[in-house]
Amino acid sequence: MYDDDLTGTAEAIAARRTRLAPGIPRHYHPLPYFGAANLLALSAITFSLLNLHAVTFWEWLLVPIAFLVANWVEYRVHRGPMHHLTPPWKILFQRHTRQHHVFFDNTHMSADRPQDYYFVFFPCWAIGLVIITAALFAFPLRMLLSRNAGLLFFAVAIAYYLAYEWLHLSYHLPADSFIGRTWLVKKLRRLHTAHHDVTLMTRCNFNITFPICDRLFGTLDTRMKSPAKPR
Ligand SMILES: [Zn+2]
Ligand SMILES: [Zn+2]
Repeated sequence: MYDDDLTGTAEAIAARRTRLAPGIPRHYHPLPYFGAANLLALSAITFSLLNLHAVTFWEWLLVPIAFLVANWVEYRVHRGPMHHLTPPWKILFQRHTRQHHVFFDNTHMSADRPQDYYFVFFPCWAIGLVIITAALFAFPLRMLLSRNAGLLFFAVAIAYYLAYEWLHLSYHLPADSFIGRTWLVKKLRRLHTAHHDVTLMTRCNFNITFPICDRLFGTLDTRMKSPAKPR
């Protein structure tokens, strides 16, 4: 990364993308990955919801709690190992700081080709890892609280991951696309675009989805530092 020209000129971004492009697997296309991730995630969520039975008020309360826990995990992982080389999690730093942030900067947020979304999505095995991790946390909840509590936590965790992938993708679609023009995406993309400024990426806007923890921990930056318009 540090040998790259990190300025936002068209020549610099083209050079960086040319250097990183050979890292995209030869037959990669984002649709099979994203389709399978959606299918698996929605199946897991549906399975959980269909198995709920007579949910009490206190059990429903677990939904916002699980959502806030997921928001905090997103914040911590992004602010920590995704932007700071941390030995057991080197792959997160490699994929995020050294690839995603080099491929997309605040002046070039969208991809040129569908294959370029390889540098936006998590690796294809991530959805499996998320399901297993969510189940590992849901199981003790089921034991300690109730079956409904475990199922609700599991469903919220998977839904949050899916929201992360959808929202992050939407920020990196062309700003004038159907999804890119929606009110919510326009608002949230502004925050993520500021985060893609190379001088700000370790300082602000670590929530990719909803900036709750950024607000809580004082790292929310609603200004666009760069006067350049993202494309
Ligand atoms: Zn991004
Ligand atoms: Zn980042």
